[in-house]
Parts: sequence; C-alpha cells; structure tokens
Amino acid sequence: MRKLRRCLHTKTPLKIPLYDLKIQQFLQGRIWIEEELPFLQDIIRYHNTQRWIIKTPGIQQKQCMRCHSKRLHEFWCKQCKGHCAYCLNCLKMGRVSNCTNLIRWCGPTYKNYIAELCMTWTGTLTDSQQRVVKECTVHEKDHLIHAVTGAGKTEMLFPIIEDALKKGKRVCIATPRTDVVLELMPRIQQAFLTIPVQAFYGGSDFSLMYSPLIIATTHQLLRFQQAFDLILVDEADAFPYTYDEALQFAVKKALKDTGRTILVTATPTKNERQKYEKQQTYSFLSRRFHGFDLPIPRFVALFSYKKSFRKNHIPKRLSDWVESCITKQQPFLLFFPTIELMERAEPLFQQLHENLHAVHASDDYRKERVQALRKGDVPGLLTTTILERGITIANLQVAVLGADETIFNASALIQISGRAGRSKEYPTGDVCFFHTGITRQMDLARNEIIRLNREEVRV
Ligand SMILES: [Zn+2]
Ligand SMILES: [Zn+2]
Repeated sequence: MRKLRRCLHTKTPLKIPLYDLKIQQFLQGRIWIEEELPFLQDIIRYHNTQRWIIKTPGIQQKQCMRCHSKRLHEFWCKQCKGHCAYCLNCLKMGRVSNCTNLIRWCGPTYKNYIAELCMTWTGTLTDSQQRVVKECTVHEKDHLIHAVTGAGKTEMLFPIIEDALKKGKRVCIATPRTDVVLELMPRIQQAFLTIPVQAFYGGSDFSLMYSPLIIATTHQLLRFQQAFDLILVDEADAFPYTYDEALQFAVKKALKDTGRTILVTATPTKNERQKYEKQQTYSFLSRRFHGFDLPIPRFVALFSYKKSFRKNHIPKRLSDWVESCITKQQPFLLFFPTIELMERAEPLFQQLHENLHAVHASDDYRKERVQALRKGDVPGLLTTTILERGITIANLQVAVLGADETIFNASALIQISGRAGRSKEYPTGDVCFFHTGITRQMDLARNEIIRLNREEVRV
C-alpha cells in the first residue's frame, strides 16, 4: 500500500503533497546558498526529495554557478577535507565553493494576487511622458527610453510598472548603484503602498516574503535566476559598468525566457540608440518635465590647485564659488577626480564651514550625509563620481574640480550637469567645470547639452 504523506507540523496524513508556502515564496526566482537558507535543514531535505527544489554544486567545470565567473581561488578546505575552490567574483554575497550547494525552487509557481488599484501615486504626467509610457506598453519587446536628466523618468516608470503588475508580472528595477536603489526605494514604495517592495543592495536585509516588485543593484541581481517578466534597467551605462558585461549578464540571468527589458538612460551610446531605433522600440524625451532648458556648464580655468592643496590653501576661484553657495544658502556638490585629493582637501574646506564633509563609495556615513544635505543640515558635500546620478536635491549647484581628468568622460559630465535645476521651484542652477585645459570630453558634454536644448519637443 502507498504510504500517505504526513503534514510536517501536525503529522496528520495528507492526500496532496504539501510544500511549505514560505519556502516557495522565498525561493521563487532566487538562487541561494544552502547553508544561508533561513529554514530548517530537515524541511529543505524533504522538499528536495519531493523535487520541489533543486540542489546544484556551487562550482561546476571551474565556473561559479551563481555568477558564472571563472575567477576562482583554490584552497585547502576544512569542510570537504581536500582541495577546493571558491568564487572571488561574488564572494561578498557569501562564499560559493565546490562543496557549497545552490538551491532553486522548481515546484509549483507562486501566484501573487495584485489588486486592480495597486498604484497609489496620483500625480500627473506631461504629454511627452504619457507618449513614452504608451510607446513602452503597447508592445512586449525590449525597449530603450532616452530621457534627458530631470525629465521625470521615475514618475514615468510608475504606470509602466502598474501595467505589468496588473498583468500578474514580476518586475525588477535594476541599477548599478546602491545610491540609486536608496533614492528610489521610498519613492517606489510610496507609489505602490499596498505592495511589499523589496530593495537589494550590499548590506540590505532580506525578507522572507515574496515580492512582485524588487529594486536591486547589479551585483545583488545575481541572487536571482529566471525570476522576472520585466526588468527596468535604470542608468544602464552608469560608471563603473560602462562597457562592462556584468550588468548585461546579471539582467539576462534574472530575466525569464519570456521576459523583456526596458532600458532607461540619459546618455545612451550611439550603437544602442541605433539598434532600438531600427526596431522601433526607442523613445526619446528631450525636455525636462518643467519645460526649462538643461543648465549649460561653464568652463573656468583653475591651475595648480593640487599644489595649492599641498600648501594648505584653496585657490581663490574655488573658495569664492563655495563661499557664494554658502552665503546664498544654496546646497552644492563639489566633485573631485580622486578620493585621495578629496581627503587632502577636506580639512581645508572645513575652515570655510565646519559642516563640510567628503563622501565616497566606501564611506559608512554616505547615506546619512546625503540625507543631511537634502534636509539642509549641511551646506554642501565634497564627493567623487558616486553621486553623479540618481540624486535630486532642489536648488542644487554643482562644480567639478579637474573636469579635464580622464575619469570625467562626456557621459559622466552630462550626468553631473543634470543634477542642477531639477525642481520646478528652482529650474536653473550653476554648473561649473574647473579645469587646467579644456578637453574633448568637456566639449562633447557641453555640445550635447546645447543640442538637446535645441531639440524640438515631440508629443
Ligand atoms: Zn560567483
Ligand atoms: Zn570545500
């Protein structure tokens, strides 16, 4: 006689196979290290024997099965008592080695119920924004949205996300930058109050719940596989992922075979633009949402500033710019080409104002300091390119120190300029490029901004 299955908790016989809903919800679309699963081992083993989950070795044919990297480090492993190897590429998300198992869900698909009125955002879009939304939702192919900085692209994403959620789709907003995730998270949650939006970035907590709407950095996207029907790739070309295949790979892996991507960027490459134009899946938004021009950067020569810093002195043109912002109570960002130079200059700027601080990628206080600037608690910030995009602060003024340095390519300079004049109340702002000689990249950035301002408005 066939033995009846019993419920794991009450031990009563069951006629239908019973899987744990929590495990199903958690693992749906994810790829997770077995030891890091927040469930009891026995229950996992049971689900494995029932073939609701698949276990695969973390490394196969000298390749990591989570991120597909071949950058492995060989070592003597205590766990498997022999020569073993682990992946260096995705090490920050937990060690994947020869003797680690990766777990995926392969049981029944979790169906998520989405209310008809899932969008709680009540704002209105401009005619041009509405046109773009229509162009994106009328078909199911991959799409490119080319929107100038400050065009209001986040608001534009709301109805696109709503459209997908209503059709029962799972949506992800992917971006190369943690700052962009942190900036987007409250805005997206506010726009979809009834939906548990989840954010994935280095150091974020993870919830056990299933979420149909996820915001993730490129790196964290590697924790997913065949998960999403729609991935909105925000700032697709953002440094350090320019020309890097990491983002493309992560997106491809996390996307279902039937899924599609919508790329959103202010600075697409010529090739990208032509590719999507050919397929007629290209949307262009040439004006900012408030209708004002993009601020045009001005070039200001500033020689031997590095030498000045070494002599504990800020060149007058630079200190004048900063002091003018402080006096007029205009928040500002001053971009530096290197962390080293910025840290050397930080104490000098603190003589101008005690609350002037520097922020960079590995800064523990980065989140708090940006927040302090937004609230008006500090007059400005010294920063590296980490804040070049994704930041919106009303009445912001920006300056780039060493705009002729190679780290500031045309795309980065366009993005930096785009931080100014973003709000309706303050549609203009100063963009100042301090340089020791005008470069081609500076010219390219300035000319592109002028060209965009001349573009005819298409509705
Ligand atoms: Zn890996
Ligand atoms: Zn091992």
